[in-house]
Amino acid sequence: MIIEYSRNPLNFHKMENPDVTHHDSNPLCGDSIDMDLKFDGETISDVSFHGSGCAICMACTSVLTELVKGKSVSEARGLEKNDVLGELGLEHLQAVRIKCALLSLKVLKLALYKHLAAAPEGNADVLKEDAASLY
Ligand SMILES: [Zn+2]
Repeated sequence: MIIEYSRNPLNFHKMENPDVTHHDSNPLCGDSIDMDLKFDGETISDVSFHGSGCAICMACTSVLTELVKGKSVSEARGLEKNDVLGELGLEHLQAVRIKCALLSLKVLKLALYKHLAAAPEGNADVLKEDAASLY
């Protein structure tokens, strides 16, 4: 499944006029992704990513984008690492590869942070801590 997703990643394209975009990389492996998000009120109406990464990074980002599409911002911000790892059976991944797997979740949380920080009562700071505590 990981190989399949890495060959044919889902939601893998650059979005026209995203509301928020965030970039981060994992220098240890060379994974580097940008995530684009579009919102319709409280709902994440579209999400895509582009960049390059190893098979685990591409697979996890594919899975994550599928998970959050159509979800509310509050549902998406509550996602935890095992929600992503569990989809691919990667709960027992070696520590060195965890960063590959969770880079996408970190990027998502920081993109949501950017989105919420722009709103008056966004309570966004928790997201920054969440992202920092992933790995
Ligand atoms: Zn990697």
